[in-house]
Amino acid sequence: MTEKRLQLLADNAQDFIFSYRLPPGRGFDYVSPACEAITGYTPAELYADPELIFEMLEPQYVEMMQGLDNSNLSQGWELRMRRKNGSTVWVEQRLSLVRDEDGRIVSVEGIARDVSERKAAEERLERQALHDELTALPNRRLLRDRISQALARAVRDGCLVAVVFLDLDRFKLINDSWGHAEGDKVLVAIAERLRSVVRGSDTVARFGGDEFVVVREGISSGDDVSVFLDRLAREVQRKIVLGNNDLVINASIGVALGGAGDTPEGLLRDADAAMYKAKAEGQSRAEIATKAVHSEVTNRFSTELALRRSIARDEFDVMYQPVLAIDGRSLVGVEALVRWRRPDHGLVEPDSFIGIAEDTGLIRPLGAWVMHQACRQLQHWSRVGVRGGVVSVNLSGRQLSSPDLVGNVLGAMAAARIDPSQLSFEITESVLMEDVDRSIQILRSLKDIGVGLTIDDFGTGYSSLSYLERFPVDGLKIDRSFVSRLGTNAADGAIVAAVLALGHALDLTVTAEGVETVEQLQILADLGCDAAQGYLFARPLPPSDFPAFATAEKALAALN
Ligand code: C2E
Ligand code: MG
Ligand code: MG
Repeated sequence: MTEKRLQLLADNAQDFIFSYRLPPGRGFDYVSPACEAITGYTPAELYADPELIFEMLEPQYVEMMQGLDNSNLSQGWELRMRRKNGSTVWVEQRLSLVRDEDGRIVSVEGIARDVSERKAAEERLERQALHDELTALPNRRLLRDRISQALARAVRDGCLVAVVFLDLDRFKLINDSWGHAEGDKVLVAIAERLRSVVRGSDTVARFGGDEFVVVREGISSGDDVSVFLDRLAREVQRKIVLGNNDLVINASIGVALGGAGDTPEGLLRDADAAMYKAKAEGQSRAEIATKAVHSEVTNRFSTELALRRSIARDEFDVMYQPVLAIDGRSLVGVEALVRWRRPDHGLVEPDSFIGIAEDTGLIRPLGAWVMHQACRQLQHWSRVGVRGGVVSVNLSGRQLSSPDLVGNVLGAMAAARIDPSQLSFEITESVLMEDVDRSIQILRSLKDIGVGLTIDDFGTGYSSLSYLERFPVDGLKIDRSFVSRLGTNAADGAIVAAVLALGHALDLTVTAEGVETVEQLQILADLGCDAAQGYLFARPLPPSDFPAFATAEKALAALN
């Protein structure tokens, strides 16, 4: 072909054909008219300014062009160019190098073709493969990816990932009664709401039909999760307007917490199982999977979460253990001992959760609940003619330092209409010794309202005798550890005798805890102990069992 015919072809081609001379004297030797359609610049503009082309290319391409040789020029490559109006265009480009007789590269010739449409289609396909069409949320596939990335970050940063599974309640009903188009609107609305409450780093995905999954990162306390779940639930429950109808949607929520050793599949399975459980237990509830526990930390953590939930739902019982006069014949009072009805765990003893409740501050609401419950119970017994004596409630350190302690106590007594003389508090020796002056001050304020005060677990907390005198208390409870060895260990006998002498010298009532045998009771009586509590008489009793005990005790006293 003649050069003229070639030129004619180039001039009429749809592709941007060019020849660019390298330095010295760089600039375009030829630019086909199609360059205007593709880049927005006319050939005249490109001829006039040899630098213009570099403004159109992203820096990495400029660099690449500078190091060109013939090694991989044959295959084209795709690159993005900036057009005159600021928008971008994807082009596929093929280049060849022109050399002089000495083999030096003197110019570059090439063809660039607009492939924006194909690129957009590819991106669309990729999006479709990873996103849900209706809501545009990530789909299951992308979700798995996001969870594994989140897990990797969680391990690195030492926090946890929460995988939250939401299933809309009664969604089928909406589809059935309003039709699928309206159902779709609801799903889109819910998707938007979920997206609006999460952080940029969190993921909201559509898992299937009416199931959504939210992945939240950077979880470091139970509070983080509870607050977040409440927000999610509230957002879902906001009214949705469908035509003339206002609709309130609820979701059943299951949560699994993950960290080192967890897999996306495992977490999704656990969260899903927890969600089913929430649904089964009455819809629109949140349930936390407890299976996904891989370490002591996550164990403590899930206990804390479960505790929070249970406090909100009053999943606790108070048991009452009778305290008897040392002759074993008359009831002095009862000690209120809390039990946790932990879902899936049965009745849990306080030793395995009071510590966590104290560390997290949950002991305050829990303790206040126990106090109210105990006062109400006493009032109830008295109404039905059962004498309960004084009810003793255990107070932890965190409660003691709470500014609303006195207010709470007054509130509990007023609500149950009981007298301060019917209520007493047990505080362990170690708590009192933490800050003696402060303890004295708080004990005084309690004493001022007329309730009883006892030092619990006495003998285990290294009390200095001089302090004991300063605490405004009425009684001591000798720790079970001393009582249990009475009769087998002479030293314990001596300790109990010393505690009794000390207590009586200070005019305190001394109660022995954990009395299990008649022999122990006998020794305590001989030493002059005032009262006793233990399995010998009764284990902590559910409130319904107490009246029978109290009546039997009355019968015993009558026989005497
Ligand atoms: P505590 O106040 O020293 O309560 C006495 C514990 O000894 C109770 O354990 C009771 O069931 C147990 N006990 C009583 N008699 C016997 C016996 O003869 N033999 C044996 N082996 N044990 C006996 P429980 O109910 O497991 O409570 C453990 C601790 O948890 C309590 O010790 C108390 O410190 C704490 N606690 C319980 N309820 C509450 C509460 O409502 N608030 C706070 N802050 N602490 C509580
Ligand atoms: Mg106690
Ligand atoms: Mg005790």
